Amino acid sequence: MRSNKQAADRKCSGCGETKPKREMIRVVRSPEGEITIDPTLNGKTPGRGAYICRSAECFEKAQKQKGLQRAFKGAVPDEVYRELAEAVKRFNDDIS
Ligand SMILES: [Zn+2]
Repeated sequence: MRSNKQAADRKCSGCGETKPKREMIRVVRSPEGEITIDPTLNGKTPGRGAYICRSAECFEKAQKQKGLQRAFKGAVPDEVYRELAEAVKRFNDDIS
């Protein structure tokens, strides 16, 4: 099966649904092992990525179910969750 549209979809680490990655926040682990929120908004930061919907609900799920830990197969610093919470909040502030 070939579908360019699907290729751009990513699975949310919170709700588990797949959505176009441009509608999601990307968390990236650099080759050095540092985990950050991808600030480029277009997935250009190199490294392994995990995605989450821009919703507080998905963020909470990802945190509770350790979705990011699973995606990265390792620990995710509290700092990253704090940044992620702020990023989600920022997106929602922009919408309203
Ligand atoms: Zn989600």
